[in-house]
Amino acid sequence: MATLDTGMGRRAVGYLRACCLCLTLLASTSVAAGTPKPEVTELLAQAESVRSGDPVRFAELVSELQGRRQELRGLQQDQLAYLEAYGIAFSGKYEAAIPRLQKLMASSTDSDTRFRAGALLVNLYTKSRRFAESLRQLGRLLPQLDQVRDPQLRIHALVEASYLHNEIGQYSLGMQYAERILASQPDARAHCFAEYLKYDAMLNLATLSPDRMDSLQEAIEQCTRGGERLLANHMRVILARTMAAERKRPEAIALLRSHMAEVESFRYPYLAVLVKATLADLLFERGDLQASETYASEAIALSGAVGTSTQSLVGAYRTMYRIAERRRDTETALVYYRRYAEADKAYLNEIKARELAYQIVRQETFEKSEQIQRLGSQNQLLQLQRKLESKSVQNTRLVVVLLTMLLASIGYWAYRTKRTQMMFKRLAQTDALTGIGNRSHFSIQSERLLAQCARNEQEVALVMFDLDHFKTVNDRYGHAAGDQVLVRVAELCRGLDYRNAVVGRLGGEEFALLLPGMSLAQAVEAAEDCRQRVTRIDTSGTGHRFLVTASFGVTTTALAGYQLARLFSLADRMLYRSKHDGRNQVSAYEGGYSLPERRTVPASGETARRETQEQES
Ligand code: GH3
Ligand code: MG
Ligand code: MG
Repeated sequence: MATLDTGMGRRAVGYLRACCLCLTLLASTSVAAGTPKPEVTELLAQAESVRSGDPVRFAELVSELQGRRQELRGLQQDQLAYLEAYGIAFSGKYEAAIPRLQKLMASSTDSDTRFRAGALLVNLYTKSRRFAESLRQLGRLLPQLDQVRDPQLRIHALVEASYLHNEIGQYSLGMQYAERILASQPDARAHCFAEYLKYDAMLNLATLSPDRMDSLQEAIEQCTRGGERLLANHMRVILARTMAAERKRPEAIALLRSHMAEVESFRYPYLAVLVKATLADLLFERGDLQASETYASEAIALSGAVGTSTQSLVGAYRTMYRIAERRRDTETALVYYRRYAEADKAYLNEIKARELAYQIVRQETFEKSEQIQRLGSQNQLLQLQRKLESKSVQNTRLVVVLLTMLLASIGYWAYRTKRTQMMFKRLAQTDALTGIGNRSHFSIQSERLLAQCARNEQEVALVMFDLDHFKTVNDRYGHAAGDQVLVRVAELCRGLDYRNAVVGRLGGEEFALLLPGMSLAQAVEAAEDCRQRVTRIDTSGTGHRFLVTASFGVTTTALAGYQLARLFSLADRMLYRSKHDGRNQVSAYEGGYSLPERRTVPASGETARRETQEQES
């Protein structure tokens, strides 16, 4: 009995194959369309509603829609494509329907339409016994379940999942999906189908305890009330097997017999073979060999229409063999035993093939998830590397910025230092009051120029001059006025346009000009020019108007040689001569006579007179 009990569920599933397409159609469709012409919309709605119940009308509607294809807009085109594929599948041409659905899945812009086509594809693969493809397709659908907008479409996918898993002998999973359907408020037909799938899984898992018989009975009644008589009769077979296991074989036989007319009225060989093979087995166990033989023979005869080797057929042959054995008809027993063994082998092969498909897809899924994990780890590693690279780029940038700042600071510091150096140098070289070279700078520049001119044998003249009675200027007009005079004199010297001339304030009110390339006569002329300019200095800026004069001494290298000290000495003496001779004049050293020593020269009468010409401003 136990063997028969477990086999029975598989038998029931087998017979249900054709029925499942009807259920596929039951999944309601949400027709998402823009603003189509009402007539076409109406035709599509009608086709959707009659597609499982009225195949003839359905075919007419599809054909009419095909004729008006140009009127269909956007998703309506997809909807017709689905209905066309459905019609082809309904007529049993699964292999022709499959590529159409694949194309629709690839081309539709609507996710629900793609999902709907995918769910039908699962169903068709399962019916075509292409279990591996069915499992793969289901594996692609299930992750999208939460995104499906139409709740009935979600339930549809769960029905396919439950049905497929029961078909391949994965009853635990089949039952889980069935329970998910029952918890999702399915419509009456999906509810009935889920109940059937659940009890079928339980029967095969040997978990259908006697205390569940009442609820099974209730489910059968509910299906019957809902018009699902085909499913109700499948479930009656499950109930009969459970009753038989509970020593209620007569009731079980009575139950099946009482619905035999209804079963036969369906003209649905899968169900008829299932019920008759079950009855044959139950009657044999009760010892009614005659009746058992009748049902078993009928089941075998009808099996030709079923096409594949099913567990029901295996059971029918087994019953026939056992009947012949009981009758001690060894020859017939051997014939049926052979057929039984062949059918059983074919059926076991199919079971193995289904199991293998399941394991292959499981392995693929496992490998894929492994691969995803591996890719995830690699991706993480790459992200870390990228982060590291961007950090190192940031660091490099920081270093560059720091270095730039450092270089800029060093550059600025060097510039500031250089500027300070230059400032100190300028301060060291220039006279603070007048801005022209001081004595030491004048001496250094002159030494350099003299050396150069000496090499070129070029004559150089030195003109020195000292302001006359400057002490008196200070005394009379104040030190500030004296300073202003000194500044004017320095400006005057700077303004002299002699090539490569060196100008300097030797100290106090004493100035000097070194004039390269000048003979004594030219230098005297230059000194005279300078003297006259001094006398023209405008002192009004001091608040006083007075005459400024200076005494000049001139010499050249032609007479004094290129030693600066000697040039200074001779020019100074000539200057002194000018002072001595009455100031405001130029004296030149022409050689050959004794020079006066320098000393303080008292103011001459002429100078004193000129002083009286000073005008107060
Ligand atoms: P002499 O005609 O003989 O040269 O008479 P002097 O008064 O010019 O000669 P002395 O050497 O006696 O006086 C020079 C004066 O120059 C003394 C000093 O007060 C003045 N002096 C020197 N340096 C400066 C200066 O920088 N500013 C002002 N205002 N006066 C100065
Ligand atoms: Mg003086
Ligand atoms: Mg002086």
